[in-house]
This record gives sequence, C-alpha cells and structure tokens, in this order.
Amino acid sequence: MPHDTPLISTIVVGFVLAFVLGAAAHRLKLPPLVGYLVAGVLCGPYTPGFVADQSLAPQLAEIGVILLMFGVGLHFSLKDLLNVRGIAVPGAIAQISLATLMGWALGMAMGWSHGGSVVFGLALSVASTVVLLKALQDRRLVETERGRIAVGWLIVEDLAMVLALVIIPAVASIANGNGAAQASGAPVNAVLGFDLGIAGVLAFTVLKVAAFVALMLLVGRKFIPWVLHRIANMGSRELFRLGVLAIALGVAFGAAKLFGVSLALGAFFAGMILAESELSQRAAQESLPLRDAFAVLFFVSVGMLFDPAILWTEPLPMLGVLFIILAGKSVVAFLIVLAFGKSVSTALTISASLAQIGEFSFILAELGVGLKLLPPEGRDLILGGAILSIILNPLVFYLCDRMRPALEAALGRSPAPAAEPVRPAPIEPAPDVVTSSADDTGEQEAKPTRLSGHAVLVGFGRVGGIVARKLKAAGAPFLVIEDADMRVASTRALGIEAIAGNAAETSVLELANLRGAKSLIIAIPDAFEAGRITESARETNPGIMIVARAHSDAEVDHLTKLGADSVIMGEREIALALIQSMVGAAPAADSA
Ligand code: AMP
Repeated sequence: MPHDTPLISTIVVGFVLAFVLGAAAHRLKLPPLVGYLVAGVLCGPYTPGFVADQSLAPQLAEIGVILLMFGVGLHFSLKDLLNVRGIAVPGAIAQISLATLMGWALGMAMGWSHGGSVVFGLALSVASTVVLLKALQDRRLVETERGRIAVGWLIVEDLAMVLALVIIPAVASIANGNGAAQASGAPVNAVLGFDLGIAGVLAFTVLKVAAFVALMLLVGRKFIPWVLHRIANMGSRELFRLGVLAIALGVAFGAAKLFGVSLALGAFFAGMILAESELSQRAAQESLPLRDAFAVLFFVSVGMLFDPAILWTEPLPMLGVLFIILAGKSVVAFLIVLAFGKSVSTALTISASLAQIGEFSFILAELGVGLKLLPPEGRDLILGGAILSIILNPLVFYLCDRMRPALEAALGRSPAPAAEPVRPAPIEPAPDVVTSSADDTGEQEAKPTRLSGHAVLVGFGRVGGIVARKLKAAGAPFLVIEDADMRVASTRALGIEAIAGNAAETSVLELANLRGAKSLIIAIPDAFEAGRITESARETNPGIMIVARAHSDAEVDHLTKLGADSVIMGEREIALALIQSMVGAAPAADSA
C-alpha cells in the first residue's frame, strides 16, 4: 500500500466529514450543505489537523458541477430555454452590469485599480450553479416556470462568464502593454500567433461557442441518443451507466478543450440533447447517485478555501461584499423580474436563488490575482462572500417567503390562490397542472392537495401506472406522488393530480393530505422507502388503509411490521398468474 495517497485521503476524509457534519446539521434543522461547508473548513489549510490536497479537491468538485449541469440539461429542452430567453437574457445582463458596477465601486473605494475592481465586481455578479440548483431541487422548483427562468438566467450568466474569462486576459495584456499577461491568458492570440484585439478575441470566442452549440444540435442530437440506444440494446446495466457517465464527462471535457466552453456548459448541452430521446429518463436516474456525491465534494472544496480570519481582519469590506451579494443583487433581480410583469413570488424566488456566488467567482478571482489585477485580499473577500452567502442562502429563501404577502399587498399584485385542503373532491386536474403559458401566479409550486376522502398512490411506473388508470376509470378520487419529473409530467398529461417529489420525505407526504385520505397505495420497488412511507402514514392517520408492494418475504414482513394492512409480493403474484395462464391454456393446447 503506497503511503502517499492524496486523492484517496481527500475523497475519504471529504465524504466522511461531510456525512457526519451534514447529518449533524440536519439534526439541528439546518440544510445539510452547511455541514458540508464546515467539513471543508475543517479539512482546509486554515484550521489545525488534516489538510486535504488543495489542487485535487477543486477538481473533484468540478466533476460535481459537470454532473449537476448534465442533470439540468436532461430536464431542460431547447424549447424551454428559448421560452425564457425574453426575460433571462436582458435580466442576466442587467444584473451582471449593475452588480459589477457595485463591486467596482467597492473596489475603487478600497484603492484598487480599475481592472481589479471590475474583476471583483464581475466575481460578485455571478451565481453558483450548484447552489442554485440545489436550492431549486430542495424546493422542487426546477420544473416550474420560475425554476426555468432561474436556470435560463444562470445559463446566460455562465455564457457571459465564458466570454469574460477570455476577454479579461486580453484586456489585461493590452492595458499593461506587456507580454506577461499575454503568456498567462489570451489563449486565442497565442493560438493564432498574432494579436486580434479585443473585438477580434470576442468575436472568435462567440464563434467557438456557436460552433460548439451547432455541432451539438446537428451531430450530437442524432449521434448521442443513437449510441445510448445501442448500449441499452446490449442489455448491460453496467455499460449503460458507464455510457451515460462517459457522455456527460466526455462532452463537457471536449467542449472545454476544443471550444473553450466551460465544463459546466458543455455538460448542460450534452444533457439537453439527451433529453430529446426517450432514454433520457433512464439516463438521468443512472447519473443521480454520482451527481449527489460529487455535489457534496463541491461544497467541501469551497469550505477548504475559506480562511475565517478574514471575518475579523477585514470586517467592513466583508460586510460590503455581503451587502452586494445578498441585498444588491437580489433587489436588482427582483425589480427586473417584476418589470417583466411576473408575479411577486416568481421575482422573489429568482432573486433568492441568485443571491449567492460560487465556482465562477473563484475562477475569476484566481485569474484576477494571476494577472496581478486583483490584490490577494480581493480573492479572500470573494471567498468569504461565497461561503457566507451560500450558508445564508436558505435564510434568504426563508425571508423571501416571509416577505411575500407584505410585498404583494404593497405592490398590489394578487397572491397565489389559497392552498388549504377543502372538502369536495371529484377528479379534476391538479391546481398545478398548468403549462408554462399560464399566467404566472405561482400555481406550479408544490402545494397541498384539496382532495379528501381520497386514495394516495405512490409511484407511477409499471405498477402504479396500471393502478392509476384503473382508479381513474372507476372515477375514484386520488392523487399520485412520483419523484421522476418525466413521470410526473405523464401523470398530469392524463389529467391526474400529481405531487412531484420523494414520498419518503415528510414534507412531500404532507402535501397529499394523508390525514383526510382513505387509503394509501405504495407502488414503488424500494422496500426501505416504502417502509418509511408506511410508518409515517400510519403515524399521521392511524385509520388509513395501507397497501404496499414488495419483492421478497422479508420485505413483506418488514412492511407489515411497520403498519401496512396488506402487502402484495410481486414475484408470488407473477408465479400464480403464470400457473393460472398455463392451466387456462391447457385445454386449448390439448385440442390443438
Ligand atoms: P415501477 O417499478 O416501474 O413500477 O416504477 C416505480 C415508480 O415509482 C417510478 O416511476 C419511480 O420514479 C417511482 N418512485 C420510486 N420511489 C419513489 C418515492 N420514494 N417517491 C415517489 N416516487 C417513487
């Protein structure tokens, strides 16, 4: 066993500490990501004890960013992106400009150069993909209109930063009039062997991004699903998983190396192209566990960069930075979204999700310091701003929720319709069965059902799908809880009320009004989750009838012990049906 294993120790210590502190944070009713960040601070260089490898951790984190953006792409079609461009493009550009202006002013006030202040402002203007997605996922908002606007906004920010990363070294080299900056940046000029000037560099970058997008749309759109179909036909799960991973990482890496697009953006496009094939649902699920694991490493590596000393050595500039990120950016985004005629709740969600900074800011800070534009304390302030804004982000969401009624009243905008469960309950499309063309009052947000005396069906797959159709045909009042987005969409397309999310989470189960429900049908394959759902349903409603699905005798026992009234063991039913159909077929076979 070799002694020097920085990769292994970084991964192991990162995961173990993140798990322990994430669980502790959860117990304290804080989001687990606060625990991950603290885990990072603990294994960073500024605290005593183990210090994880400073160059490996950010690379591992980048894999998390790639997989996350791949996942977003999987749920995002080109149509969605184009649908929100009207607000996302001007919104992102206006927000970046104003936040950069504020950051520039702060930089100038601290006596930095114009260049350094602009880089500082840019770093404060761009939100973190990982944090935004996690916030939207935790609140089940990715599939809502406001979620799409926020993601579209983020894509525009990412594109702007891709341009900024190319332009800054070029500008620095021209402004300094020396070759130092040229050597560290301006790759375009270096490649071409002559100086293009700023406009030329910009045009060249836009051209490269456009070439990448065109290649993905023209070739990738056909080729990637074709490859996946072939792998799926081979019947090997292992190879299919590997195929998905290879496509996500391969396209991201290729895009970055060949076209100068960011890894995240490359992965986003790879996902978006896959979303157009029917296999995408499977592909998404294959990449989920890895995505979650590496997203954790992202937060750990952010924590590692943080030197807590900045809090007491530079308190005032730190407060200024936090003000720009938390208040300045939010207010600007809020006003822009409102100006586009959207509801207060949409404006609040978008501004809360953008009120933080992350990975792009670190890259910009490093670049600024490398080019000697930004003093090192500028980088420390950016890092401090990032970690504090990430920790405070859930609080910002909470405050936005609290402020919403007052803001709605003050601005004279109508609030979202009342959500409390009420009595009569025929089958009717759920209140959240609204397409994105509907008026934007926040109907798509998760909210409690209005049904009572109904059945709750968990899972809309091979088993639940059949149950749902039968219930619908019988005219019984019921709703479906399903955690795969595509399946939620197909449930709603049938006019069935659906709650998106994992039914094993109490917050999701609460939306189904179990207290007022007659029965619960658990049609999912995982016995642990089914057990968790059974237990909490029984606790909420001792009289509810619970029927569950299992795949072994041990699972039947487990679910019965936890309170299920009846557990159907799939394999036994299949065996019985097989025998029965043989018996039924026997006379026909004889007479033949
Ligand atoms: P199948 O095994 O084909 O009947 O599919 C099971 C369905 O249940 C799939 O659509 C899953 O997305 C869904 N599912 C699995 N676990 C859960 C859960 N904990 N909460 C909600 N839906 C779930």
